[in-house]
Amino acid sequence: MPSPLNICLLPGDGIGPEVVDAALEVLAAAGQRFGFTLAPTVQGIGGAAVRASGVPLPEATRAAVAASQAVLLGAVGAPEFDAEPPARKPETGLLALRQQLGCWANLRPVRRVAGAGFTPLREEVVAGADLIVLRELTGGLYFGEPRGFAPGRQSACNTLRYSVEEIERLARFGFHLARQRRRRLTSVDKANVLETSQLWRQVFQRVAADYPDVQLDHLYVDNCAMQLILRPTSFDVLATENLFGDILSDEAGVLAGSLGLLPSASLGGAIGLYEPVHGSAPDIAGKGWANPLGAILSAALMLRHSFQLEAAAAAIERAAEAALQAGVLTRDLVAIGAPFASTADCTRAVIQRLAAEPAAIRAVPRRRLTSA
Ligand code: NAD
Repeated sequence: MPSPLNICLLPGDGIGPEVVDAALEVLAAAGQRFGFTLAPTVQGIGGAAVRASGVPLPEATRAAVAASQAVLLGAVGAPEFDAEPPARKPETGLLALRQQLGCWANLRPVRRVAGAGFTPLREEVVAGADLIVLRELTGGLYFGEPRGFAPGRQSACNTLRYSVEEIERLARFGFHLARQRRRRLTSVDKANVLETSQLWRQVFQRVAADYPDVQLDHLYVDNCAMQLILRPTSFDVLATENLFGDILSDEAGVLAGSLGLLPSASLGGAIGLYEPVHGSAPDIAGKGWANPLGAILSAALMLRHSFQLEAAAAAIERAAEAALQAGVLTRDLVAIGAPFASTADCTRAVIQRLAAEPAAIRAVPRRRLTSA
């Protein structure tokens, strides 16, 4: 029997614990099917950690994360901390965690599963949409210094800075990713206004010479926001900086049907960080309404990228898709007032379909993307 997978679970706030529990149940079921076991540790982050220890990323969490092979996170954020200083904000803990792990490449796959519930867009527009938002995660406005309020709080500033090195490693990652898909890379910037974007575009154009088999195009972020809704099926890999990626990937959630469906993997360092794209959704926390599929699909990405358990990862993805197609839809995927499946119903449906997967297909190693 191979060693247990040493994963650090960071449930966080709001619906975070609910969706992490669901993902853990599915991982355990996948382990039984595909011959692996888990050795999870659970630690605090975000508002839960501030309440328990006064800081959003305690030393014990940093140490447990550093000792793990991969991290699965729920979400952070709670309205009670909105007026707190940065050192006590839940989101500060998440940014510090991303920095600790050095995971600069954030992959956010978006797929429209046919018939997967309500979409405000016409089905013929979103049918077949299958793209990855590749977001730079440890640079740009979220980390740039100087930042803060001026004395008297009559003005405030943030700094947007990117180096050639930060852009180039993301560009190479994007070209590498596109090569494994439909060989189309769209770089998103605001080069008509921002110098950081002009540098971004120059670097992408230079790196493109090393990948002649990948078609590169450039879009301004405002146009991209529109094109994503107008012609989503024309996108394959969409590479962009931290803030633009944060916004565009929420928009892309509408293509899939709901933000609650989107998983993410943050790579680039020695330890991968996996988390659903959505936040802590305080409006529905504790009600059993959360869509667990974003977290469940993040766990599948963890099996793929951190443990090279491709067969188990793909089986979870197929089981989630089959549950959706069978009409197991959480509240975020049905029209207002229509009956819906609970978090537990949806998790159970995925596990049932996973059990039907052929056990003979076991762990198939797959090339790691982190080497891009
Ligand atoms: P959110 O993603 O939490 O919620 C946006 C909307 O989507 C809400 O109506 C919510 O009910 C719904 N939703 C989100 N996830 C869902 C799911 N799995 N199932 C069903 N419905 C779901 O974004 P927000 O409301 O802007 O932010 C709430 C808090 O989360 C804030 O404190 C914010 O800072 C934080 N946040 C954290 C992360 C993270 O941890 N990575 C990301 C975004 C926001």
